[in-house]
Parts: sequence; C-alpha cells; structure tokens
Amino acid sequence: MSSVPPASPGPSAAERLATPAQFVKGIGPQRAELLAKLDLHYARDFLFFFPRAYQDLSELREIDQLEEGRSASVVGIVEEVELRNTGPGKSLLGMLLRQGTRFLRCLWFNQPWMRQKLEEGRRLMVSGEPKLEGLRWEMIHPRIEPLAENEDAPAGRILPVYPLTDGINQNQMRRMVGGVVESLAELVDDVFPEDFLAAHDLWPIRRALPQIHSPDDQASLEQARRRFIYQELFVLQLALALRKYRLEHNRAAPPLPTSSKIDARIVRLFPFELTAGQRQTIDEICADMARPHPMNRLLQGEVGSGKTVAAMYAMLLAVAHGYQAAFMAPTEILARQHQQTLSRALAASKVRIGLLTGTLTVGERADLLGKIAAGELDIVVGTHAVTHAVAQSGVEFAKLGLVVIDEQHRFGVRQRAALKKAGIDPHYLVMTATPIPRTVGMTLFGDLDVSTLRDVPPGRQKVHTYWAADAQRLKWWQFFRKELDAGRQGYIIAPLVEESDFVEGVNVRELFEVLSRGELANYSLGLLHGRMTPSEKDAAMDAFRSGRTQVLVATSVVEVGVDVPNATLMAIEGGERFGLAQLHQLRGRISRGSHPGYLCVFANPQTDESRDRLDAFTKTSDGFALAEIDFRLRGPGDLFGTRQHGLPPLRIADLARDTAIVEEARRDAQELVAVDPELTTPRFAALRRMVLFRYGEALDLGDVG
Ligand code: ADP
Ligand code: MG
Repeated sequence: MSSVPPASPGPSAAERLATPAQFVKGIGPQRAELLAKLDLHYARDFLFFFPRAYQDLSELREIDQLEEGRSASVVGIVEEVELRNTGPGKSLLGMLLRQGTRFLRCLWFNQPWMRQKLEEGRRLMVSGEPKLEGLRWEMIHPRIEPLAENEDAPAGRILPVYPLTDGINQNQMRRMVGGVVESLAELVDDVFPEDFLAAHDLWPIRRALPQIHSPDDQASLEQARRRFIYQELFVLQLALALRKYRLEHNRAAPPLPTSSKIDARIVRLFPFELTAGQRQTIDEICADMARPHPMNRLLQGEVGSGKTVAAMYAMLLAVAHGYQAAFMAPTEILARQHQQTLSRALAASKVRIGLLTGTLTVGERADLLGKIAAGELDIVVGTHAVTHAVAQSGVEFAKLGLVVIDEQHRFGVRQRAALKKAGIDPHYLVMTATPIPRTVGMTLFGDLDVSTLRDVPPGRQKVHTYWAADAQRLKWWQFFRKELDAGRQGYIIAPLVEESDFVEGVNVRELFEVLSRGELANYSLGLLHGRMTPSEKDAAMDAFRSGRTQVLVATSVVEVGVDVPNATLMAIEGGERFGLAQLHQLRGRISRGSHPGYLCVFANPQTDESRDRLDAFTKTSDGFALAEIDFRLRGPGDLFGTRQHGLPPLRIADLARDTAIVEEARRDAQELVAVDPELTTPRFAALRRMVLFRYGEALDLGDVG
C-alpha cells in the first residue's frame, strides 16, 4: 500500500486532514478514482461524509427469543439456499439460517441477485421483522451482513449506511470512513467556542464526529446529528442575517417618505376602501421606503387578498418623488393584466406606463428602453425574464426607485442578490400568494422583512370544493350550465401530461373540442394554453375578461394572478397531477367576486400521498395551513430546497423535518449579528470563515474585510 513517507517534523493537523484520498490508508489510487464520484477527495471529506441512514443492530436475538413483529437481528450459518422461478420475471429465493439447532427461514421475492450473497456455510447476520409461520420463524426481505469466521456480531451497535458508488460496497465504505474517523476526528477544530457549545446544548465536534458515523446508541446519534444540523443551519442563518444587516446599513437607497397629501392622492385612485390588512401593510412599506436604505420586504398574502393594491401604492409613492418603478410578473398574461389595471386606475393622471415583454419587435423594444433610460416612463411593467435580461444587459433606468416582484416564490435570495447594481439601490418589494412553510420562508427569504396580508376584501364568498368521481360528471355539468345561465363564468383546467408544450396543446385542445360539441355545446368557449402566441393569449384573455366567452378552457397558465371577478366556476381535470400549492392557486381564480365559487376536481389518485393531498385540498381553504400540509406530505427532499434558489444544497439538515432547529438557529444567528454585525470578534473567526466560504459568493458577502 502506498502511503506518504512522514516528513521530518511530522505533518501538521491541517496537512493530515488534507491528505489526498489515494494516500489514505486502505484506499489507494484505484478506489480514490471511484470515491471522487462521491466528492470524496481528501481525508477530511470522509469525516463529513455523513451516513444517509442507520441500521440498528442493537436488537440482537437468539432465535427462540424472537417476538412477532419486533425487529431483530440474528447471527447464524447459511444452511441451505434455493432459488426458484415462479413465473415470467418472477422468482422466490429461500434461505435457511441455522443457529445451533434452530432455524430461521429468510425469503426474497423477485430478488434473484441476492443469491450470490448467500453462500452455503457462510456466517451471516440477518436483520428484519420476524413472523411465526406455523412452527418456524420467518423474515421477508431481511438485511444481511456477512460476518467473518470468528468475528463477533456487532452487538449493540448502530451501523452507518453510506451512499455508495459502483465498485465500492457498504462494508468497504464503512471501513474506509471508520478508519479516517478513528485517526483524524480528533484533529478537527471546532468552529464554535466552548462556551457557545455549552450554552446551546451542542456537542464538541470531536465528540460528535465519531458518534455520527458509529453511534453508541440512539441518544448519542440524536446528539451528534443535532450538532451537525444546528451547525449547518446556523451558518446559513448567519449568512442571511449578515446579508440583511448589510443591506439595511451599508447600502444607500433614495428616501421616499409618504405624506398625508401623497397618501390622499394615491388612495383616491382605488375604487374601494382599503382593508385593515392592506392599510397596515402599506404603513410598513412606507416606513421602509422613508429610510435612506433599501427596503427588502416580502409581502405574502392569501390568494385574492389584494396585494396588487399595496404594490400600486408603493410604485405611486416612488413616482410622487420623481422616481421610476419596475413591476415584474411571472407571465405575460399577468404582466399585461397589471398594465391594464394600472392604466385604468391612472387614466386621468400624468403617470406614464410602459409594458416590457418578450413580444415587442426589435424597434419597439429599443424605443421602450430609450424611454426608460431617458426617464420618460414612470412605471415599467414586465415579465421577470425580460426585466432580468434587461437588467443584465446594462440598460439603465434613469432613476429607479422601486422594484416590485410579483408572484414569485421562486425568486429566492440568490436571484435578488444578482439583481442589485452598484451604487444606489432601489427599494424592493417581493410578493407571493404561495404561502410558504415558515421554515422555508426563514431560509429562502431569510434576508427579508415580512408583511402578511391575512384578511381578504369584504364580501368575498366561500369556494365550495368537491373532489368527484367520473360518475358525478353529468350532475356537475348540469350545475355548471345553470350557473352560466345565471350570468357566471368558469374555467376548465386541463393538466399538463408532460412538460412538453406540444402535448400540452393537444390535451387542452382535445378537451375544448369535446366540451364544445358535448356538455357545453350552447355556450361560448375560449381556449388558452402555452403554445399560443402572446397576441392569441391576449385575445383569449380579453374575450374572457369582457364576458364575450363564458368559459375558458385552459392549462395551468391561468394559475398565477389572473383576476376575473365574475368567474366563479372551475373544473379541474386530472387533479392528481397537480401539487397542493398549484390547486390552491387555481382555486384563487374563482374567489375574487361577490358570488360563491364552485370548484370540482376530477381525479384518480394512485398513491396515498396523492389522496391525502386532494383530501386536504377539499377540507382546507386556508393557504397557509395548506402550505404546511403540503410540505409534510412531500417529506424531505429538495423541492422547496435551497438548490433551486441558487444556494448550496443542505447536506444534513432538512427544512421540513428540522423545523425546531431552523427556528433556534435563526434566533441565535440574529442575536449574534445584532451584537457583532461583521463577526469581528476573534472567537468567531472560524465561524466567519465558514460563512464566507459557503455563502460568500451566493449571497454576495465576498467583500468582508
Ligand atoms: P392578489 O393578492 O391575489 O394579487 P389582487 O391584488 O389581484 O389579489 O386582488 C384581487 C381582487 O380584489 C381584485 O379584483 C382587486 O380589485 C380586489 N380588491 C383589492 N383590494 C380590495 C379592497 N380593499 N376592497 C375590495 N376589493 C379589493
Ligand atoms: Mg396578484
């Protein structure tokens, strides 16, 4: 085996931790190449290569001590193995494990490859749930652990289960990681000072490292995991708190205070009284915008709660001070709707509004950009994509005071960091109607102040939500027609079969054909889907908005933001294909007027999760509650994760599972930044380096001294 010859004074701890994998004892160049695929390059990488699961062998039993249904491990010798074909592609593998004079039968269905691990005469440990079949104990699909001739069963141990790559099996991986942990864990320095660890009930790293890989018992495993989950979340929350502090203190934005005169002039434009929630939100926005530092505020509110009004107020406040405002929407349909709403409200004023979308001709676009740069437009409405491209291409607003980003829960912290330009910042208002789970909000929007609109404008009616089987269609369409006859309008939503526009078009068009010849033959139907040109989409939306078409057959392009108060009916086909947040967004389309809404979801759920989701949807109309349910149903994973927001993925923490630690870490990080904003205290130097290393680039924190 190759290994580095010891240099004369002996390598330092840092050098030993940085030993390339191939020189680590028991690895060598060939394995090192395989391990590189798992991002294991240096000795220290193995220390932080955490198990993805554990196998609890602490229940080691004799065969006659087994209890039905209680997981246990049994050590014995493979007595007999038989593999039978039981049909095309089907097999049954049986193994008899002998322990003294007793036998345990193990069965594997359709796993013929297990045969090769079950050599007769071999000593094994099997772990699983025992069942008494007649007089014999049986385990179905037990885990197996080969043991050497005189090797003790790893009694009372919890074995790590690591991610693997081709050519390296679990036992080899355990030995390699175990070896590194044993020899190097004690060289790792803690990023936390000792008193901090004690005060926060955290294990020192030198104690936690061995226990996370090879825990003594469940309690130690919990403590070790807590230590690393906390560290990961704390570092992230520190980065966010640092960014927030900097935005609030180090960056300049034009102070744009409101006054009773400005307020009266703006409020007059709205054809209704503001709700208490809107008033409060507007007050919070005004307080932010009055400061000489940029506002960074997230406005979250239930679908239909009237967020646009708050955005309009903020934009007009900027305009009142001679500044420009940019209003970004996720779709062209929504951008155009906002432009129309604004134009209507501001028809009698001198405010100049421009619409910047992907459909402008080259000439129109150049003309518009010219006006933006010359300050000849006050409010520019555009799609996220286009506005972002414009910002990147260096087109300057003459005097940008405010950026509003509508309906964009995907527009995370990283994207916002990228939008900022040198010099004076605009104020930022981000709006979302997709209520996000608390812990996700604390992370992806962890650098923002949050306003929440909980009330909806008065007079809103409930949406009655049904989940129906095919048998109920006749009755539903009867009801649908009756409501249309009474003057209402409705949406019919077709699912995306695949993420392909082509299929999308086919699907929704077919539905359109079937309905216009069948159930809705005597009504005027419109069609809206992603394959249509923007002007076709506009025409379809205009016809629906004005009531010329009574029914809009559409894909989920209408999901976000579309506002047609007279539409109170909706049917959703293939409901099992929609996520909970998406269903709730769709429902939001028909809860905007003074008539009650009726929504019927046709769905054939194939999984429990899908069934639970539909069940929750019909029973709960509170978007915030639904967001939490959705999050729990989805379980761990990166769906709401950090990666799609441009942040490094979390390695051990899980925002859905570790909610209590997220809150704890956030509180602690904010406390620390409040007393030591730049983390200049020497005792936090290591922590600070870690924050910058991990998030410096993503969160634009690089310039710390
Ligand atoms: P969202 O929060 O989902 O973006 P919108 O801003 O589109 O909601 O508002 C939904 C509807 O409610 C719009 O038709 C809007 O004109 C109306 N609306 C907003 N505020 C009020 C209010 N205070 N009183 C009555 N209607 C309102
Ligand atoms: Mg909206």
